[in-house]
Amino acid sequence: MKITALTNSCAYGEKGLFRGTFRFDNEILAEYTWPLCEIRGEKPGPRLCISAGVHVNEVSSIEASIRLQKLFDPEKMSGSVSIIPVINQPAVYKYNEYICPVDGKNINHTFPGRRDGTFSEALCDAILTEWAAEADCYIDMHGGDLKERLSWFTIFQRTGDNDFDVGAQKIAMCFDSEIVLALGPEYMQKPGRPPTACALRKQVAIMTEAGSNGLLNEDDISFHVDGVLNVARLLGILDSPPSTPMNARTLCDSYIWVESPCDGDFHAEVEPGSNVEQGQRLGVIRDTFGKVLADVIAPATGLILWRITHPSLRKGDTLLTIVEEADTELP
Ligand SMILES: [Zn+2]
Repeated sequence: MKITALTNSCAYGEKGLFRGTFRFDNEILAEYTWPLCEIRGEKPGPRLCISAGVHVNEVSSIEASIRLQKLFDPEKMSGSVSIIPVINQPAVYKYNEYICPVDGKNINHTFPGRRDGTFSEALCDAILTEWAAEADCYIDMHGGDLKERLSWFTIFQRTGDNDFDVGAQKIAMCFDSEIVLALGPEYMQKPGRPPTACALRKQVAIMTEAGSNGLLNEDDISFHVDGVLNVARLLGILDSPPSTPMNARTLCDSYIWVESPCDGDFHAEVEPGSNVEQGQRLGVIRDTFGKVLADVIAPATGLILWRITHPSLRKGDTLLTIVEEADTELP
């Protein structure tokens, strides 16, 4: 990484507060710079990497990454905290939903990427091998693109290695989630999110999700900020007691995408975080004269993870997702 400090910053790698920009070494990414804030304590300790803005409209998580920069004091911490507030730089001021406009790929579904791949693939590879290579934990914060409403949830990856999985679950439980989603080992076989790609490298990463419709919301921002501070406490970066969770943090282990049965306007009768029973009506699809075209029925018993809020949907588009509660205390 080629790093440039702002004038009011300490030198990169020294104790103190670093603020600046950097370029990745990979030439495929040479056109762009990324903002970087890194806070380093005098005492050695773990390295925590935090990012937001893989999806640029998920603004509560981006705002959390900005507020966190002022909440770590180099005099009162061990190790280092490194923050990239907006990963998807090509999408800044373009408001793309989900994708990176350079290659049309969803960065969040592209990890671990490839050094010689497309822009998003090279970016995912560079995030893991250049910036977060030495991280003891990587947290990628998300929450609520322009047409989405979310429950509060965290995602971690299970590998089948009990010690690793218990550690990853403990990190995910640091957030005051309604739902903690444990991806099964079968996810390890395909490209995907940072928790999956990092697990392949025996590195713990989690995704955190809170937000809706591209709106700044103080409760959503606090979910991310408080959760990251709790992870820093768990790792020993901060020496202060963790906050008390208010939510159940229900552990779930399967992720079901519910599609629209026909073209039309979806009118939901359930909201994220609520329990639903298999066979229950989740909403209806209506045409532009108000006539009901179809009922949307829950394919399984579980919790609503998130739903699309814009009613207009084509047949086969995702309306919402349901997660099923885990049978056992995973891992
Ligand atoms: Zn996202």
